[in-house]
Amino acid sequence: MKIICIGRNYAKHIEELQNERPTEPVVFLKPDSSILLKQHPFVIPEFSNDVHHEVELLVKICKIGKYIEPEFAHKYYDEIGLGIDFTARDIQEQLKAKGLPWEKAKAFDGATVIGDFISKKKIDLSKNITFELHSNGKIVQKGNTDHMLWKINEIVSYVSQYFTLKIGDIIFTGTPEGVAKVHPNDILEGYLENQKMFRIQVK
Ligand code: ZN
Repeated sequence: MKIICIGRNYAKHIEELQNERPTEPVVFLKPDSSILLKQHPFVIPEFSNDVHHEVELLVKICKIGKYIEPEFAHKYYDEIGLGIDFTARDIQEQLKAKGLPWEKAKAFDGATVIGDFISKKKIDLSKNITFELHSNGKIVQKGNTDHMLWKINEIVSYVSQYFTLKIGDIIFTGTPEGVAKVHPNDILEGYLENQKMFRIQVK
């Protein structure tokens, strides 16, 4: 399986990192070796002093597809989930300044948290979906699909122009504002429509 990520999909997050607003989605991949094993803590890697949490809505692909039209995109996923795209911001800033790829900042071991999924049948996707990240019991990030620059169906369609989507692939749809540094002993909990989807301890 592959993990496809969208960057800069929420206007306020683009502002907080002082990035340019893209004219097309920013796309990058994470390898399956970056997935944090279930029940394991997230260990801050030695090479970074500034790892940020990025909570994101996830889409799980259930059907093989290529060149998917936006109006048919909904047929290619049957579950929505929540996860974290951990980012070594100090490393990413160095790479960005040099115009280099981001993998060392985002694709390292443990950098991908995949929480629980909810069947599309149990969630009304015709309405906006809300999600939250709590750090040590306090809300630090709040997302609403209404604020996405590219909506889920547009993302599925867009990425399928470049990559054949396969069953089990997961798309990270970008993070809202509120990204911040994590510290040892932090407890990070993700909620999708008030349902707890993951709990991660930082070490
Ligand atoms: Zn992200």
